[in-house]
Amino acid sequence: MGEAGTVRERDGICPVWKKCGGCDYQGVSYEEQLQRKNRLVRKLLGDFTEQVHPVIGMESPLHYRCKVHAAFTHDRKGNPVSGIYEKDSHRIVPVDSCMIEDRKCDEIIVSIRNMLRSFRIRTYDEDTGFGLLRHVLVRKGFATEQYMVVLVTADPVFPSKNNFVKTLRQKYPEISTIVLNINSQKTSMILGERNIVLYGPGYIEDELCGCRFRISPNSFYQVNPAQTEILYQKALEYAHLTGNEEVLDAYCGTGTIGIIASSMAGHVTGVELNPDAVRDAAANAKRNQRSNIRFIRADATEYMENEEGIKADVVIMDPPRSGSTERFIRAVGNLGPERVVYVSCDPQTLARDLKLFRKLHYRAVEAQPVDLFPFTGHIETVCLLTHKG
Ligand code: SAH
Repeated sequence: MGEAGTVRERDGICPVWKKCGGCDYQGVSYEEQLQRKNRLVRKLLGDFTEQVHPVIGMESPLHYRCKVHAAFTHDRKGNPVSGIYEKDSHRIVPVDSCMIEDRKCDEIIVSIRNMLRSFRIRTYDEDTGFGLLRHVLVRKGFATEQYMVVLVTADPVFPSKNNFVKTLRQKYPEISTIVLNINSQKTSMILGERNIVLYGPGYIEDELCGCRFRISPNSFYQVNPAQTEILYQKALEYAHLTGNEEVLDAYCGTGTIGIIASSMAGHVTGVELNPDAVRDAAANAKRNQRSNIRFIRADATEYMENEEGIKADVVIMDPPRSGSTERFIRAVGNLGPERVVYVSCDPQTLARDLKLFRKLHYRAVEAQPVDLFPFTGHIETVCLLTHKG
């Protein structure tokens, strides 16, 4: 793609950042980025939290994203194009390499694009609904260096799929699984519900805090595992487990935090809404030989409200960016854990929720922000709350 898609890393400025909108801090030194995040978190949490620690940043803040997504289309001459959606639109900005994405993931996507012609695979046209390939998603297991390729297509029939898989695997033996994901809907969601495994087990594995996890195409897994490890270690330190506690891991995803915590707790219950994630979580518990943990597919609030006889000494919660809800927080209050460890990906909603916790006599003792998303405005924070009792 030449100049347009090439990132001049030395200058610290990406040529397409204004159109792409993925980075808020292009051209801002990493030191300054961390200072800005420090100021933001202090401003939002300072009134509710006794101690806000300085952000833990990355030593090398580039190419950290282990999950890379490219949208596919074609130019007027019918040549395939891949890249990132322009901010707030459905136009695709051609991108071959990105400063914050894993290099090999980017490389695999370009190779797939270059294979399309000879395999006579047409890219999907959003307006007419013709064509096959809509997106490619590549995920890397940070510690295992296994790669998963997900080809998102409008139709389950993929021409010469065995040859396609063979060619791609010959070029990249580190690809340990290839999945066809069918998305025939007119939707802005990337993935459809149906997966057809073309090669390998249909998932990859990664290691975090000494535990092994499997990651399926549709389940949530943090995109920056190196920093996630630091975040989870802090969460465990705040949970202060001694081996006897009953722990509730709410919004547990694939069970990562709960499974890591289970070696230090009496018993853990993970609650999660997404059935794929719950399936991964149960498999992950087995894989790590944990028998003192169970997973429940439910809305976390409804589980706390309706389940009889549950108790929790520690609640760990890791809600989506929109934060938790008043009802959830009230249900935690009724459960009455001694400690709540809140893992948040948006300090704005965290501040709102801490205010609600305060009404229920939970005080926020300390908060530790961790930079999982350099060059973007996002920041993760883990916060310890204890009951004033
Ligand atoms: N703790 C996990 C996942 C955090 S992401 C990790 O660190 O990997 C938030 C998760 O909350 C997602 O998996 C999402 O499916 C789940 N979720 C969203 N709303 C929920 C609800 N009301 N009840 C239970 N889980 C929910």
